Amino acid sequence: MEKAATPLEQVHAEIAKACKASRREPEDIALIAVSKTHDAAAIEPLLAQGHRLFGENRVQEAQGKWPALLERYPDAQLHLIGQLQSNKADEAVALFDCIHSLDRPSLLTALVKAMDKAGKRVPCFVQVNVGEEDQKGGCLPKDLPGFLAAVRDTGIPLAGLMCIPPFDIEPAPFFAFLAKLAADNGVNGLSMGMSGDYPTAVMLGATHIRVGTALFGTRG
Ligand SMILES: *Cc1c(COP(=O)(O)O)cnc(C)c1O
Repeated sequence: MEKAATPLEQVHAEIAKACKASRREPEDIALIAVSKTHDAAAIEPLLAQGHRLFGENRVQEAQGKWPALLERYPDAQLHLIGQLQSNKADEAVALFDCIHSLDRPSLLTALVKAMDKAGKRVPCFVQVNVGEEDQKGGCLPKDLPGFLAAVRDTGIPLAGLMCIPPFDIEPAPFFAFLAKLAADNGVNGLSMGMSGDYPTAVMLGATHIRVGTALFGTRG
């Protein structure tokens, strides 16, 4: 009997399907396994299957569980996908390989200072509030050109643009909007797409997808 596909294999198959439909190559899409709220025991099977790219949304939670895992899997990469407070910049720079939530001048200043102090360059995505929602982080689309200029001025590596579209409505127009903003501003990376919509995001140009539930099951 054939073995049932693991969630990781299923997600890879979905990525391959979306790539085929849009004439893209699966190698061009980085799958970030979002392990927030899940403990080391839940993360281990993915590491054992060879997966190495993970996302967390809180600095403190990541500090609690990742140092021990990184000791055993030193080539694992950790991306911070959640909102970041400026006073946590040092800790974020110390632990993470990439930050997806750079969205305001005060955080840019704090991150540059933290990176200088650590002698380490951490690539950052600029998060865009594509739905212009009050409660959501992200730079407003109208402020993006100015903010990108400020980021480029500092010389920190710009990884791309990131978005979390409004909940409960078709995300495709928001993904297309983010792709257009990236093209208009000469930015390459696109961090977009979660469990419910990553095939759509891939078809619209995502280079980084952030998938939690489809890999780990629902969060408690
Ligand atoms: C939790 C989270 C995800 C993953 O969401 P799922 O729906 O579980 O795939 C992606 N991006 C961000 C910013 C998140 O906080």
